[in-house]
Amino acid sequence: MKVGILGGGQLGRMLLQASANYVVETFVLENDENCPAAHLCHHFTKGDITDFKTVYKFGKKLDAITIEIESVNVEALEKLEKEGVKIYPKPAAIRIIKNKIAQKEFYTAHQIPTSEFVVTENMNDLQKQVSFLPAVHKIGQGGYDGKGVTILETEKDILNGFDAPSVLEKKVHIKKEIAVIVAMNDAGETVIYPPAEMIFDPVWNLLDYQLSPAVIPEKILWKAEAIAVKLVKGLQSAGLFAIELFIDMNDEVLVNETAPRVHNSGHHTIEANYSSQYDMLWRIILGYPLGNTDPILPSAIVNILGAHAHTGDAKYEGLAEVLKMDNVFVHLYGKAQTKPGRKMGHVTILSKDYQDLTYKANKIKHLLKVTSDKF
Ligand code: ADP
Repeated sequence: MKVGILGGGQLGRMLLQASANYVVETFVLENDENCPAAHLCHHFTKGDITDFKTVYKFGKKLDAITIEIESVNVEALEKLEKEGVKIYPKPAAIRIIKNKIAQKEFYTAHQIPTSEFVVTENMNDLQKQVSFLPAVHKIGQGGYDGKGVTILETEKDILNGFDAPSVLEKKVHIKKEIAVIVAMNDAGETVIYPPAEMIFDPVWNLLDYQLSPAVIPEKILWKAEAIAVKLVKGLQSAGLFAIELFIDMNDEVLVNETAPRVHNSGHHTIEANYSSQYDMLWRIILGYPLGNTDPILPSAIVNILGAHAHTGDAKYEGLAEVLKMDNVFVHLYGKAQTKPGRKMGHVTILSKDYQDLTYKANKIKHLLKVTSDKF
């Protein structure tokens, strides 16, 4: 089979690593010819994944297409789908998820629990919603990694909001953030990975480290699993889906957002679960049986982020020390240039003991630094 990936970042790179176990010819479309996935595919095409003609031309010669980012040209994928190219996930599902407004409306329509929200078209609209605060304002399209999301506590924060179509949602009193990955094949069969539990870095608002399986009561686990599977069935699309959920102070489980693709919350599945999220997506695309999502051992993921105030050619400090540690797996994404907060790689730690995971995660965070000679 000829299979294309739209986007060539680290998710595409790890997806390609897993593809090497199967008989499949891989194609990547991405603007940057030095992107993380560029040298692991059979065929690289330089081009804009948001441009109709470029995506259509790229997809015309393929049997199937998947994505590693949602900001793709959905119209081209819809045309390709009509012409017989299999798309994972279906363009209709990407269309819903790509826009935070459509995503929230989908949850409401399908009785999927999510925080209460209103849609604001512009700043004028937002200013009428003072009584709705404290809330979180999220731009409908184009936000990522915390950009396009702003917390509005009181009236004086209103001007920090977006003057564009957005969602204003009630601020949730979060006890824990978890993510659940669900895979669905063409026959509608589903498998579900154990939830991962996220711990955020207050400075970058990026993931600090992550533990899996999440330490949560069984009742909350069941709720989260039921919501995640219902959501994916509602999207009516085969593929792999990562669902980010909040557990609030009353132990209610609310959907924050969904990614219709392999996701950073599933990096650990490469070493920590029998079938990784990347392996699973290939099984779905190639029509093989779904894999086993069981954990082999509990795990932690530490993101390797570019150090503060360092921009330029990347250097990895402390790598040898980290590689000396037992059951620690380093993944560098092959990005030549670092900048503050840039995702440069991750480290997965396996241990049957959660204290050992937390200890090693903190140790790795202190040991491993991505710097540059230039500032
Ligand atoms: P992005 O798509 O940029 O990752 P998210 O919608 O996931 O943005 O929001 C980023 C973070 O902001 C979340 O992980 C969470 O910590 C916080 N957040 C988002 N929505 C809410 C909310 N309704 N209430 C409280 N915190 C929120």
